[in-house]
Amino acid sequence: MPAEKNRQIAIVELPQGKLSESHFKLVESTVPEPHEGDALLKVRYISLDAANRAWMQGATYRDAIEAGQVMAGGAIAEVISSTAEGFKPGDLVFADTGWQEFAVLPAKQLTKLPSLEPMTHLLSVYGIAGLTAYFGLFEIGQPKEGETVVVSAAAGSVGSIVGQLAKMRGCRVVGIAGGKEKCDWLVKELGFDAAIDYKNEPVHKALKEACPKGIDVYFDNVGGDILEACLFRMNLFGRIACCGAVSQYDGDAPAHGPRGVPGLIVTKRLKMQGFIVMDFNDKRDQALKDLERWVGEGKIKVQEDVIEGLENTPKALIGLLAGENRGKRMIKVA
Ligand code: NAP
Repeated sequence: MPAEKNRQIAIVELPQGKLSESHFKLVESTVPEPHEGDALLKVRYISLDAANRAWMQGATYRDAIEAGQVMAGGAIAEVISSTAEGFKPGDLVFADTGWQEFAVLPAKQLTKLPSLEPMTHLLSVYGIAGLTAYFGLFEIGQPKEGETVVVSAAAGSVGSIVGQLAKMRGCRVVGIAGGKEKCDWLVKELGFDAAIDYKNEPVHKALKEACPKGIDVYFDNVGGDILEACLFRMNLFGRIACCGAVSQYDGDAPAHGPRGVPGLIVTKRLKMQGFIVMDFNDKRDQALKDLERWVGEGKIKVQEDVIEGLENTPKALIGLLAGENRGKRMIKVA
């Protein structure tokens, strides 16, 4: 390995309120040395996820992030050298490399990726975003033809795919997103039936108009007030797929959460279920085959938001939490 430096983004201090660039710093170290059984990886694209911020709140489905460590995060990386069984130089992998240019990891922490063009699709539609949309909608939401599906953070990486999959199932699809431009894009470009601009219109009222027959499936990416508004519009035997709660990730604890939850769940006989995409790993191959076919047939439009340069990663995550992105946001490192 040439005497290259490894640029890394470290966490200086965990945020108490809103995340800012001052919580991160760019540091340089030497490229790590692989031990027996490890692969040395060159990071190509880092995935930016709303969950990156949730990991700073404490242990979730993964360990909590701590001050001083390199910021955690998934990425597409290329194997540079390897004694990891099953991996050779040139292989592409998905791994939690963290926000840095090089990483060393053992084979069990690497998922081999196919080589396809554009490579970025491996983080968007064929990555966690596409799989989360697929499993959350079909396995948890279980929409039927003619039903009404509502999805929040609808112009984001997961939400934009959820809406398109629900349209393919023959559902009426309503997206909730921030801003007129995003809402117009959902309807005009992605084929949603209606979109609600939660930043500029009261969601309760807008849902009444957009969902005249009520909501059968709500795919919840945001929690908080929008979840509450949807709960009141749910139909009998409706399903709520709890995917995430981005409205609760960045900043102080919210002043109030959804009201009336227990009563509404009982009287409407609702099913409300959380899930993590890995729960469905045994069905991953079929999901990827379906997604690939639908992208090939033009049934899913893939929207990506690629930002260049490792040094821009903190700013890009802060921007994602503020709703700057449309579709899957990622950082091109190399
Ligand atoms: P994303 O949807 O691409 O981006 C996040 C979006 O959230 C922003 O673009 C913003 O769009 C919206 N947002 C931010 N604050 C909001 C608020 N207070 N109220 C309403 N919307 C808000 O990000 P992502 O990484 O794909 O994550 C989407 C959701 O999926 C997150 O909840 C995440 O935790 C979840 N997720 C879950 C799994 C799983 O396995 N369960 C896997 C992946 C992701 P606007 O302009 O519309 O505000």
